[in-house]
Amino acid sequence: KAKEDGRNTFRFYDSHMDQANVDKFNLLQNLRSAINSRQFSLYYQPKISLRSGQITSVEALLRWQQADGRFVSPTEFIPLAESSGLITELGAWVIDEACQACARIRRQGYPHLRIAVNLSYVQFKNGQLEHVIKQALQQAALPASSLELELTESLLIDDDDFIKRQLDALSTLGVTFAIDDFGTGYSNLSYLRSFNATTLKIDRSFIMSLCQSERDEPLVKAIIQMAASLGLKTVAEGIEDAQTAQLLTQLGCDEGQGYYWAPALPEQSILTMLNTQP
Ligand code: C2E
Ligand code: MG
Ligand code: MG
Ligand code: MG
Repeated sequence: KAKEDGRNTFRFYDSHMDQANVDKFNLLQNLRSAINSRQFSLYYQPKISLRSGQITSVEALLRWQQADGRFVSPTEFIPLAESSGLITELGAWVIDEACQACARIRRQGYPHLRIAVNLSYVQFKNGQLEHVIKQALQQAALPASSLELELTESLLIDDDDFIKRQLDALSTLGVTFAIDDFGTGYSNLSYLRSFNATTLKIDRSFIMSLCQSERDEPLVKAIIQMAASLGLKTVAEGIEDAQTAQLLTQLGCDEGQGYYWAPALPEQSILTMLNTQP
């Protein structure tokens, strides 16, 4: 904010900004203790094959329920966990817990179910990620191919050698990668050549008004065709109605995710969904 005001602007005491900082500070304090007091849990949102209608995998999404019962949104606390470095510990817990959950569900009669985990660029910083993931897979007795890591474009365009080598090592293990929120990050797609993702997740902002806006359909169609020609699978996120699901099926999109089928749910509810799917 101060930057926007220009460097020569004298800024008087700003009570709004002060309050924002206090809120952030408090949230960070709470975040620290939340890890110890086990206020975090994972919910799981299914991804559905648009051809068969079956659940192919679930995406683990962090939930933070504070002592007063209030849920804090990941869009609020993830950036803070990143800037404070807490995401490294929290993210390792997510990987562990997600692998355990996937193994439990597989044992209930769904041996092909896969699990997706979101990763932050910060988790690549200390060079321990491969070890953390290997360990988690081993402890859960899961094959690496059952784990998909969701990365955002910003992580991939940096052309950071240290990150690149870790991604290659993980890929060699057999873990797969999806590019999350595709289309919102960067226009230079050259990173797609050097990086072996298997999946593009088309950002919700293109899907939300797909059936209303004339402009979104050709764009989404182009993304799906490009992905197909690169040998990538497509997942559309944020599908909220049957009409959008149908249109995406027609456009050749492989999988869908969104409130039309289910929001992120506790593990037990995922099992119920699996048990009752046609
Ligand atoms: P994301 O990975 O792109 O996840 C999709 C978000 O969209 C989730 O929000 C999900 O609940 C929401 N969503 C799914 N379907 C619909 C729909 O049909 N309509 C609408 N309006 N929303 C839908 P959530 O759980 O609040 O997570 C927000 C973001 O926080 C995630 O975006 C991801 O970037 C980040 N995040 C969540 N869990 C983790 C985690 O364990 N690690 C890291 N690094 N990031 C995480
Ligand atoms: Mg994601
Ligand atoms: Mg996404
Ligand atoms: Mg998103």
